[in-house]
Amino acid sequence: MNVDEQVSNYYNLLLKRNAGEPEFHQAVSEVLDSLKVVLAKDPHYADYGLIQRLCEPERQLIFRVPWVDDKGTVQVNRGFRVQFNSALGPYKGGLRFHPSVNLGIIKFLGFEQIFKNSLTGLPIGGAKGGSDFDPKGRSEAEIMRFCQSFMTELFRHIGEYRDVPAGDIGVGGREIGFLFGQYRRLVNQHESGVLTGKGLTWGGSLVRTEATGYGAVYLTNEMMAAHNDSLDGKRVIVSGSGNVAIYATAKAQELGATVIGFSDSSGWVHTPNGVDVAKLREIKDQRRERVSVYADEIKDATFHSTGSLWSLTADVALPCATQNELNGEHANMLADNGVRFVAEGANMPSTADAIEVFRERGIYFAPGKAANAGGVATSALEMQQNASRDSWSFDYTDSRLQTIMSNIFKSIDRTAREYGHEGNYVVGANIAGFRKVADAMLAQGVI
Ligand code: GLU
Repeated sequence: MNVDEQVSNYYNLLLKRNAGEPEFHQAVSEVLDSLKVVLAKDPHYADYGLIQRLCEPERQLIFRVPWVDDKGTVQVNRGFRVQFNSALGPYKGGLRFHPSVNLGIIKFLGFEQIFKNSLTGLPIGGAKGGSDFDPKGRSEAEIMRFCQSFMTELFRHIGEYRDVPAGDIGVGGREIGFLFGQYRRLVNQHESGVLTGKGLTWGGSLVRTEATGYGAVYLTNEMMAAHNDSLDGKRVIVSGSGNVAIYATAKAQELGATVIGFSDSSGWVHTPNGVDVAKLREIKDQRRERVSVYADEIKDATFHSTGSLWSLTADVALPCATQNELNGEHANMLADNGVRFVAEGANMPSTADAIEVFRERGIYFAPGKAANAGGVATSALEMQQNASRDSWSFDYTDSRLQTIMSNIFKSIDRTAREYGHEGNYVVGANIAGFRKVADAMLAQGVI
């Protein structure tokens, strides 16, 4: 059997055993495609059922999350934790609270997390969790009760050496606080290493809040430097307006770029003269309002509920919102309008078609598992600080983050070359992330 047949057999079996999970199929298909060159060169990577084991989570938890809303009505949500792979370290990955969450979404995110976490060079396995709970329009008391109910089941499955959740969409510092409080109460211990993204006075790390956005920009800068370019003076489109988008915007502008647009699920804002980051943070973080409010309050900004943010003329695009927000048509718009570099701040924001267009049209593209790894990497730095009961300065932590992002870029660049795909950072990231996990799995036997 040749490698193509071998890989398509793995994939067909996976489709059959995981029906109705298109995002999971998409994430696996991209990785398996990249692995063809690895298997052709080193067939031992298929030994001991390695590929089948890699695509099957070690453990998948689904649980009921009942809670009482402000009107006294009982609400029932579904909670998930997919502990995908712990060959490199304790399971690590965020929690997402969003109505679109289902098992397939959590599996795709958990699968991506294995390779992302491996690329950081730090000892962390891959996992993801969350709930179909919709925080939009909920009071703080409702969010607290939901978090407490969620943790009342999750607590028995996590721990400093077992599984360390953090935030993702819909889970920020406030939610991590409520989750940590309930965990601490249930186990009767202040086990700070059990969650990351904590508050600074109770075990959190400086730079964790900024890390995913900053990291994405550090990696973009490295990628641009490799092609004799830089962010200075460039126009950048950033999608989303959450934590990742806000700090990607802040760092890109600090490095001399102008961020000309951002978005949320209601529409997008054109900001031809750049973004007032303090204002955006106030609107999103403190007031928890929609992006249209930014355009109401800042005079050179305009809000659009139709059309596409990706139609703006720019040099760089940083999709930082959510999965599959950028399709083939959008990718062509970006190429037509001058974009040369794309780096994913979100998880899998580009569809397979979009990635194909980037490749065909000569756009340098850094996939999320490399570009957004700064968040989880800084979570691992938070775990190091917790383990040593220490807290590091902002500058020191930021310099560690910069080194990690620079090493990730070097590793995906080198690996892409090694396998004959120079400049293809999808192949580079998938293979570099895979090899480390695969070597550990082979060394540890069939488990
Ligand atoms: N949710 C983030 C991610 O997608 C961060 C995970 C973490 O810090 O554990 O990588």
